[in-house]
Amino acid sequence: MALRFYNTLSQQVEEFAPANENTVRMYTCGPTVYDFAHIGNFRSFTFIDILRRALRSHGFALDHVMNITDVDDKIIRNAVAQHKSLEDYTAAYSRAFLQDCAALRLERPERLTPATEHIPDMVAAIQQLTAGQHTYTSDGSVYFRISTFPGYGKLSHNDFSGNLAGARVDLDEYEKADARDFALWKAPKEGEPAWQTAIGPGRPGWHIECSVMAIKYLGATLDIHAGGIDLVFPHHENEIAQSESLTGKPFSRFWLHAEFLMVEGQKMSKSLGNYYTLRDLLDRGYQPEAIRYLLASVPYRKQLNFTFDGLKSAATAIDRLRNLKLRLETDHFPEGANEQLSTRTKAAGKAFHDSLDDDLNTAEALAAVFEFVRDANSAMDSGEFRAGNAGEALGFLAQFDSIFDVLAPSARGHAIADAEVEARIGERAAAKKARDFARADQIREQLLEQGIILEDTKAGVRWKRK
Ligand code: AMP
Ligand code: ZN
Repeated sequence: MALRFYNTLSQQVEEFAPANENTVRMYTCGPTVYDFAHIGNFRSFTFIDILRRALRSHGFALDHVMNITDVDDKIIRNAVAQHKSLEDYTAAYSRAFLQDCAALRLERPERLTPATEHIPDMVAAIQQLTAGQHTYTSDGSVYFRISTFPGYGKLSHNDFSGNLAGARVDLDEYEKADARDFALWKAPKEGEPAWQTAIGPGRPGWHIECSVMAIKYLGATLDIHAGGIDLVFPHHENEIAQSESLTGKPFSRFWLHAEFLMVEGQKMSKSLGNYYTLRDLLDRGYQPEAIRYLLASVPYRKQLNFTFDGLKSAATAIDRLRNLKLRLETDHFPEGANEQLSTRTKAAGKAFHDSLDDDLNTAEALAAVFEFVRDANSAMDSGEFRAGNAGEALGFLAQFDSIFDVLAPSARGHAIADAEVEARIGERAAAKKARDFARADQIREQLLEQGIILEDTKAGVRWKRK
């Protein structure tokens, strides 16, 4: 079946194929490296990873560029406050981001582009926009005049007519439905780092970096541009205005946007303080593949509510799949092949791929997988599963894993945190008090597996790491 995506630009589900031959030219907005990324950010990046893998499973090659925003308002504020250079400040968070991506098994884009390595390209683009009368200068900053771009609003489907003149904004991020002339180049304020360039001292605005790096590496028209839903306006709207004013061509054929990871009805975000970083969750003893599974399990255009119960269910789901795989690899089945089961396995494979083709419907794809798991397990229990069925069943699990990538266990990188150990000891004490000794022993065993040794002393429980 053809691969179909919901295109934010057309507001329609459309069949996808790359414009030129077999290679998908894709640009996705990367992280702003001013702090550790939280798992809300990683919902968007996990969606991108599933997108990459689904495109490849259709036989397409990928040319995917992702930027690293290593200069922006927040970075400058924090670096100045800590008396650090921009490079020193951002290097640690860039590294942490890549480590987190690796832990979540997110494939590396073909090219990662730090904004600060492209300042001359951005200056040249701003000069070209100025030559085309799309800009004006005020107090040393250069602004894009949105009234010079008739299509402004076409991605976010805002009608800005009659509202395009005059007001301007210096911030990189600003409110929806506020059509403002935005900064392409920002003059430095007192004490701020700046580049000395032909358009004066300063630094680029956030929006210009993506336009410039996308066009430089992928050409005037991309096949896919993607990111989180909050980027539709103003970021992507502004990218379109800049890019199409520069090239005169449509900037991207497809625009894909991932919905938010939520916590109790609100977007997970730094500013609300309702966030967990990947490290927070690993320190609590959760496996990265359970986090990956959870983030991937809800279709990207639906909001996903983060809960610890959800994370535990993700871990249980992975266990079921691993158990089936182990059984398929180690059990001895009667000779022959069960044709009916064989047909079911093929149908499960088709349902899995058809669901992903349908705008990456990961929830339906997983439903097909678990229906198959149930059928396979019950066929094994009843003796109907035959030796000849094992290969195709393992093949189906491999197809699943080429997209979801959760079957191989991660090496235990992070030790269980002290607070988590204490909490488990508390649980064990409560179990003992309730005379549930089996449960108390189970907790001791589980902690031992995580390298924690408990000693019951007269003074209470002591613990140490192995
Ligand atoms: P930033 O590092 O702030 O530039 O954000 C990186 C990416 O994370 C962007 O694509 C955002 O849209 C995305 N993002 C931020 N918060 C969330 C959230 N709660 N759920 C999903 N994506 C998010
Ligand atoms: Zn961007």
